[in-house]
Amino acid sequence: MQDWPGLIEAYRTWLPVSNSTPVVTLREGATPLIPVPSIAERIGKGVKVYVKYDGLNPTGSFKDRGMTMAISKAKEAGCEAVICASTGNTSAAAAAYARRAGMRAFVLIPDGYVAQGKLAQALVYGAEVLAIRGNFDKALDIVREVSDQYPVTLVNSVNPYRLQGQKTAAFELIDALGEAPDWLCIPMGNAGNITAYWMGFQEYHQAGRSRTLPRMMGFQASGSAPLVNETTVTDPETIATAIRIGNPVNREKAIAARAASNGAFLDVTDEEIIQAYKLLGGHEGVFCEPASAASVAGLLKRKDEVPAGATVVCVLTGNGLKDPDCAINNNDAAFHTDLEPDLGTVARVMGF
Ligand SMILES: *Cc1c(COP(=O)(O)O)cnc(C)c1O
Repeated sequence: MQDWPGLIEAYRTWLPVSNSTPVVTLREGATPLIPVPSIAERIGKGVKVYVKYDGLNPTGSFKDRGMTMAISKAKEAGCEAVICASTGNTSAAAAAYARRAGMRAFVLIPDGYVAQGKLAQALVYGAEVLAIRGNFDKALDIVREVSDQYPVTLVNSVNPYRLQGQKTAAFELIDALGEAPDWLCIPMGNAGNITAYWMGFQEYHQAGRSRTLPRMMGFQASGSAPLVNETTVTDPETIATAIRIGNPVNREKAIAARAASNGAFLDVTDEEIIQAYKLLGGHEGVFCEPASAASVAGLLKRKDEVPAGATVVCVLTGNGLKDPDCAINNNDAAFHTDLEPDLGTVARVMGF
């Protein structure tokens, strides 16, 4: 098997890079497309369902796809520091790629609302972490001002290179399936990823790599659903902290993608998210974070509308290990504790 060079080298001609762009890579991309038969079975009608497991990127989320581009371009421009606001995964990716490129990484996070694994990553990757008493939207306002006034590059998904890198996930889907899926189910926070996927599908379609385009199906958590409800949410709340965003930066682009693809937006409750999360872990052996499970929860909620024989891809945006608290508190496992260390006890508990 050939060594995967990372997504910039793999898709160089599709990306705004030149020979003088210093490629900062952790060999992100080329993530597995995994069939999930027990979810397909719940839909029936001969539907094929896959998950695009982007939690297997180097820092555990799809953010790496955008960050390899954003940091490479920042390095090319001579920048020495980057900043982002983050619900966790952007800060992990920004820190890893920026430090690898020899830059300082500043990350603003909502104090108390970042999953443990993500915070651990930002710290270990050497970011300078600023936790503010405010939510993601407030943090984003501040980092935009900082990057306007000081020599620091903003690497949130308002940075256009982020979406350029992220669109490669759509290329990988078409390269793997030989055609675009019929439905693409994806969680939405700032709605950068749905925008990027749509860009990627369109570019490959225009180049003749796929005859078809997917319907873009975007899902949000009920307590944090500004796109579904066409509003701004001042106090977003959901267990899915990665999509706990009340005022999405890429609102207009996401709405355009929905319109052009004949897609739809829908919200799913935290209970539905957790059900899908458990189903993926306990029946498919795929551990994702709660925000990612929103894509599967949304698909199951709309299952009556899936056409017979359709191919559906759900994007699993982040790794389950990111949020161990959620995992420990939401499972149906048999967990027997405080047992006597002897064969009799163990055999009895096992039911023998
Ligand atoms: C960032 C993120 C999202 C949301 O992506 P957007 O581009 O902001 O819509 C969803 N899931 C996970 C795990 C994320 O890290």
